[in-house]
Amino acid sequence: MADRKPFIAGNWKMYKTGPEAAELAEELKKLVCDVNGVDIMIAPPFTALGTVYEIIKGSNIQLGGQNLFWKTEGAYTGEISPSMLRSAGCSYVIIGHSERRQHFGETDETISKKIRAALDAELKPILCIGESLEERESNQTYSVLDNQLERCLQGLTSDDIHNLTIAYEPVWAIGTGKTATRDQVQGAHSHIRKRLKEKFGILVEKSLRILYGGSVKPENIKGLMSMPDVDGALVGGASLKAESFAGIIRFND
Ligand code: PEP
Repeated sequence: MADRKPFIAGNWKMYKTGPEAAELAEELKKLVCDVNGVDIMIAPPFTALGTVYEIIKGSNIQLGGQNLFWKTEGAYTGEISPSMLRSAGCSYVIIGHSERRQHFGETDETISKKIRAALDAELKPILCIGESLEERESNQTYSVLDNQLERCLQGLTSDDIHNLTIAYEPVWAIGTGKTATRDQVQGAHSHIRKRLKEKFGILVEKSLRILYGGSVKPENIKGLMSMPDVDGALVGGASLKAESFAGIIRFND
């Protein structure tokens, strides 16, 4: 029997100064304080982590980083370590977002190191994978996903899988207003689950959560969540307004 609690995560990207982030976190906390059947996470920019943590600590909202570097410490100007995220109050970290692959040269190899480092620091990684439009149109979606999974998760054990979340984010659906159809999402999620079950065993069926990301809004979340292999969403744009993000979190109301 699957025991996968729905999980709704917000990626604030490079939006919100400290005061703006505080306001959004306060509003969100009020709107979702009575929700207990859903895990909720927000990932503000690094500069707002401390402020937001002070607001949400002890609530039903958890904190996440948007990225990390795999070293513990050192002369790595501009980078942030897993233990720094932990001490700022993070329990999750987003790794391998397509915007990082596209603009900052992330590769499956660097992503794999980051996942290992996150797990070693007891941060729960949310690994983002997904195909481009060109890859989808040339019927390569599943082979792209297979390659990303194989390379990004190399060296992990079944125990590690317990703390991992996968976000399936077709690149063509991120920030474009185009949502993948429910069938496209279900197809990709069930493919991912099947592959990971082959690799890591039955735990994947029971507890590995696979989120969908790509223009999720209050209007489309219910349909997406009705699919058997969709366990939640990674939300960009619609997480920047408390009301719309709360509407997504409260998909079951
Ligand atoms: C994202 O940033 O992961 C994302 C899915 O963005 P959006 O919801 O804006 O498409």
